[in-house]
Amino acid sequence: MKYRAVRGMHDILPEESWKWQYLEEKIRTFAHRYGFREIRTPMLEYTEVFQRGVGEGTDIVEKEMYTFLDRGGRSLSLRPEGTAAVVRAYLEHNLGASGTPVKLYYIAPLFRYDRPQRGRYRQHHQFGAEILGTPDPAADAEVLSLPIRLMQDLGLREVEVHLNSVGDAACRPRYIAALREYFGRYLDELCPDCRRRYDVNPLRILDCKEERCHRLTREAPTIFPYLCQECRNHFEGVQEHLDWLGIRYTIDPFIVRGLDYYTRTAAEVYSGKLGAQNAMFGGGRYDGLASQLGGPPVPGVGFGMGIERLLLVLEEEGIALPREDGVDVFVATTGKTGHREAFQLLDQMRQAGLRADGDPSHRELRAQMKLANRLGARYAVILGEEELRLGMATVRNMASGDQERLPLEGLIEALRERIQKT
Ligand SMILES: [Zn+2]
Ligand SMILES: [Zn+2]
Repeated sequence: MKYRAVRGMHDILPEESWKWQYLEEKIRTFAHRYGFREIRTPMLEYTEVFQRGVGEGTDIVEKEMYTFLDRGGRSLSLRPEGTAAVVRAYLEHNLGASGTPVKLYYIAPLFRYDRPQRGRYRQHHQFGAEILGTPDPAADAEVLSLPIRLMQDLGLREVEVHLNSVGDAACRPRYIAALREYFGRYLDELCPDCRRRYDVNPLRILDCKEERCHRLTREAPTIFPYLCQECRNHFEGVQEHLDWLGIRYTIDPFIVRGLDYYTRTAAEVYSGKLGAQNAMFGGGRYDGLASQLGGPPVPGVGFGMGIERLLLVLEEEGIALPREDGVDVFVATTGKTGHREAFQLLDQMRQAGLRADGDPSHRELRAQMKLANRLGARYAVILGEEELRLGMATVRNMASGDQERLPLEGLIEALRERIQKT
């Protein structure tokens, strides 16, 4: 085979896409229940949106973006994450003008040029939601509760929330100074990336997965003694609101969002029993992002959850999704005659709202029944020569194999009744 999909990108084939449809519908239902409305931004933005909105010096912007010049010589990038584009659109269309908060969600492909690995693709898909225009901790708890309740509804019972505050412009600098002082004593022991982070933003050392850094991190000062009163109140407010919902969480000082415009709440949510946990999604508050993009200050909080990841975890935990993509009725002929009647009947069934299919080649009946099975048909309608002469059809229940003869007149209604009953 000469051509393959681009490395790190995957086709979602019919054997998988029904799960996507199920999840997407569930996600939309949940988002609408929580009062979020959908936003669809273009797949491309001017590169600057992400340089400003994700941050220069981050791995995403430095190493992982698909960036190219268009024919007019402008630098464009495929969206590597969801929030910056949403905030860009919010500012561009002044969405807060008719009142706040503004609650937006999206299901969208994201693109990152990183090492392809299991469950991670260079094009992957994310469900995210943002509450813009309110600094209130209730918004943080609300936006986090949406994906948590969704996970629980899907059957993921062991949901663990890790919660932290990363402070704000008023108090974080003092904490960063304390981290510099601490890690400054161990510079030689840090990994090369962290030695660079030490200069740029030592907060991000706390995030490092390298064992040698991780060991030092465990003894590092936490932010809690450094939080200002406002940040402290906010953090307590988020916890209080989660308590009210009965959502349990662990305070985890090593959950950081290492960019300057992230403020206060940082959260990561895991699924599964302790020791075998899967990271499910991350979220946080980004009150500095709108100004970073050149707009007025707009407080915001949100999360992003990978759909490939969610599907993988559901599979690993043995949770089956209900399959709903089969056809209702397969219309078969005995092969030689009835082509016209079958073709017309299919058309009538489809106009009446049934999912109906047939064999365009009218092969022998056995081959048609095989096709009916493959399509997941619940009923087969067989138009034999004798049946047609009598104005009848044979209706076979594909699961039980039971057959009955029904008049063609009123057949669609009769089938609809049977389908609704099962
Ligand atoms: Zn490190
Ligand atoms: Zn503060």
